[in-house]
Amino acid sequence: MEAKQLLQLADEFGGPLYVYDAAKIQSQYRKLEKAFSKVGNLRINYAVKALSNISILKLLKQMGSGLDTVSIEEVRLGLLAGFAPETIIYTPNGVSMEEIEEVAALGVQINIDNLSILEQFGAKHPKTPVCIRINPHIMAGGNSNISVGHIDSKFGISIHQLPHLLRIVENTGMHINGIHMHTGSDILDVGVFLYAAEILFETAMHFKELEFVDFGSGFKVPYKKDDIQTDIEELGKKLSRRFNTFCEAYGRELTLAFEPGKFLVSEAGFFIAKVNVVKQTTSTVFAGIDSGFNHLIRPMLYGSHHFIENISNPKGKERFYSVVGYICETDTFASNRRIAEIKEGDMLCFRNAGAYCFSMSSNYNSRVRPAEVLWYEGKGHLIRQRETFEDITRNQVIMDFEPAVATTA
Ligand SMILES: *Cc1c(COP(=O)(O)O)cnc(C)c1O
Repeated sequence: MEAKQLLQLADEFGGPLYVYDAAKIQSQYRKLEKAFSKVGNLRINYAVKALSNISILKLLKQMGSGLDTVSIEEVRLGLLAGFAPETIIYTPNGVSMEEIEEVAALGVQINIDNLSILEQFGAKHPKTPVCIRINPHIMAGGNSNISVGHIDSKFGISIHQLPHLLRIVENTGMHINGIHMHTGSDILDVGVFLYAAEILFETAMHFKELEFVDFGSGFKVPYKKDDIQTDIEELGKKLSRRFNTFCEAYGRELTLAFEPGKFLVSEAGFFIAKVNVVKQTTSTVFAGIDSGFNHLIRPMLYGSHHFIENISNPKGKERFYSVVGYICETDTFASNRRIAEIKEGDMLCFRNAGAYCFSMSSNYNSRVRPAEVLWYEGKGHLIRQRETFEDITRNQVIMDFEPAVATTA
């Protein structure tokens, strides 16, 4: 989107503001579909946690997407958006047996990632088809917080536990209809992905009633110019070919599933905030914006890079800035960043603000959360109102205290 459009939207809807470009979400979806066009049955299940606005879910539903969910609340959002339960997969980690049973009762595909729950669930509901999440122990991803396939990871059933897993399936007589892995975000390398795929294929041969093989996500998107990104065309070509030969060996044509979050929505998002103050110190120039990590926590949480542009003065001479938020704690969006000269009142735009930005926002410092706008067919549509002070107090139960009685000794 262009600076002019974004400024207009900030003017119309007020800042700080999240803007999502529907066309970018659609083109990413089509790109993935196209890369795997040689696979007979492809299923793309959008990972709701990346950006869970119901209008975004509806946009993806219109594209033919299914959903990947990690909580019963996300399942409910999906149902509200009109998704059929069988197009939703539920991949929780460490949730209660009760929640899993509740989701299963809704007709949603269950994906179980530990042997304890698998055994309990299989014993009680042997007829409910279950997918199993395997941990192939592949090290992938640049950030240890979002790399989930390694040996110490809490995710998935370890590939080394396969004999125990098979015994549980046999003893309970449960029906395993899918096999899944999600090795974490930011897999750079197609080779690593294919290696993990081999482990999954090998494991899949032990299960006779499979309907799908789910490779999760891990597609890396670019955050800055010349950034490395997953070569989706190359992955599509190689994995499709391998998947098709696997299906021949398996004896049946299965569905190939993915659950991208970032890949579909990251680059579609723009976060716009006003500069309240430019503060020159002895060591740097701070640009203090009308927002903080309550609205966009990724840089503080795991050092994510978000490209920042001064859309009020895009052609200005570049200077070095530390862009900081108003939260009363260290709250740094970017240090020593080259940005076109900033004046107080200028609007800054953060790129890659579609995934894990609004969905991780909070009310810390008792601040309201921003509005969200979907840019669709040349027009900005409000898809979430800015919160108000009432949203801050809504669930508080306010106690009254009698005036303290002075006690005399
Ligand atoms: C978070 C998550 C995803 C999406 O990951 P991205 O890096 O955003 O594509 C997919 N599957 C599962 C199980 C997840 O937890």
